[in-house]
Amino acid sequence: MSFVKGLKCRECGREYPIEPIYVCDFCFGPLEVVYDYAGIKKNLTRAKIQSRPQNLWRYRELLPIDGEPIGSLYSGFTPLVKADKLAKVLGLKELYIKDDTVTHPTLSFKDRVVAVALTKAKEFGFDTVACASTGNLAHSVSAQGAKTGFKRFIFIPASLEQSKIIASLIYEPNLIAVEGNYDEVNRLCSEIANRYRWAFVNINIRPFYAEGSKTHGYEIIEQLGWHAPDNVVIPCASGSLLTKIWKSFKEMKEIGLIQNMKTKVFAAQATGCSPIVTAIKQGVDVIKPVKPNTIAKSLAIGNPADGFYALQVVKESGGYGEDVSDEEIIDAMKLLARTEGIFAETAGGVTLAAAIKLIKGGYITKDSVTVICITGNGLKTQEALIGHTIKPHQIKPNLASFEEILKNINKQ
Ligand SMILES: *Cc1c(COP(=O)(O)O)cnc(C)c1O
Repeated sequence: MSFVKGLKCRECGREYPIEPIYVCDFCFGPLEVVYDYAGIKKNLTRAKIQSRPQNLWRYRELLPIDGEPIGSLYSGFTPLVKADKLAKVLGLKELYIKDDTVTHPTLSFKDRVVAVALTKAKEFGFDTVACASTGNLAHSVSAQGAKTGFKRFIFIPASLEQSKIIASLIYEPNLIAVEGNYDEVNRLCSEIANRYRWAFVNINIRPFYAEGSKTHGYEIIEQLGWHAPDNVVIPCASGSLLTKIWKSFKEMKEIGLIQNMKTKVFAAQATGCSPIVTAIKQGVDVIKPVKPNTIAKSLAIGNPADGFYALQVVKESGGYGEDVSDEEIIDAMKLLARTEGIFAETAGGVTLAAAIKLIKGGYITKDSVTVICITGNGLKTQEALIGHTIKPHQIKPNLASFEEILKNINKQ
């Protein structure tokens, strides 16, 4: 049974039936899925959720699908790691890493959105799925689309990391490398979406796709023992994940699964592409598009579709935002690995480095409970680390050669 009521324009409030549409015909505002929360409240309990398999479908009443989910049944329910060693370095009492680098089939949070998008695309009767991607979405649609039997058209900026291109190609989709940045890829895809009847997961299926991100937030609350954290630090590309984590926290309160929610939401971006954080810092309501130039390629969206709404969430919650340099990103990736044993991609470096600045700036205080959202695996962005890690000790294949370097290691 589905509790979805329909689609609603975020700007003018006009309502629409459930169809593969994404903008309001009247004001061009984005459409959002609305639910019958009273019905969900009566039906969904903590115990019911906890009795279900550990994947994102345990929250299915809060997701916009009608029938059974397809494919990727094992996405979601990633670990919430109590990061005591990192907390000590940062001077915090209670710190958690929501670790989306593991568990998912393609090792990033994009498996959440794609699981929902492909299920919905099947319900709408599409035979072809497509996306405009900064890398992780390409990987996830390629993989989950293979398993679920869709034809796949994947559009990426040609300058993407080699490892992400290969990670997509192995599933043999139609991979289209566009000579341009993500914003140009996305503009081209909007044109293509108007012409062909394909399910573009982040264009015409976007209202449904984006709802998948809420599961990252539900899991945080469940894994904190049904409590919302005081602070959550979230990386932003289009800004969608940030708005949906906020929606998920609000929904948990609305349906009575938590009593209080006073979470402050913090946005993290790379200085080389920080249109959302710039607006937060300047205290303005207009997101000024930028030309991205950062090693955090998965976050390199210069004209963020949900930027304005992300900004509103940050303001409403009493949060803030920080941007960080490429050097700070790499340092944070290394710190996370060295303290917590987690190998995050560049986007994870952005989020941790931003959190460090927010602590230094007094926006995140020592006694509060903080969750840092780490959204993708470092094996996919190894290029960014070349020349920035420690070096192996090279030896001859004999004991003397080993003991020679061991002396030096012991001296350190
Ligand atoms: C896509 C992506 C994000 C952010 O996505 P939004 O467009 O803001 O929803 C964050 N981290 C990683 C690793 C991503 O691939």
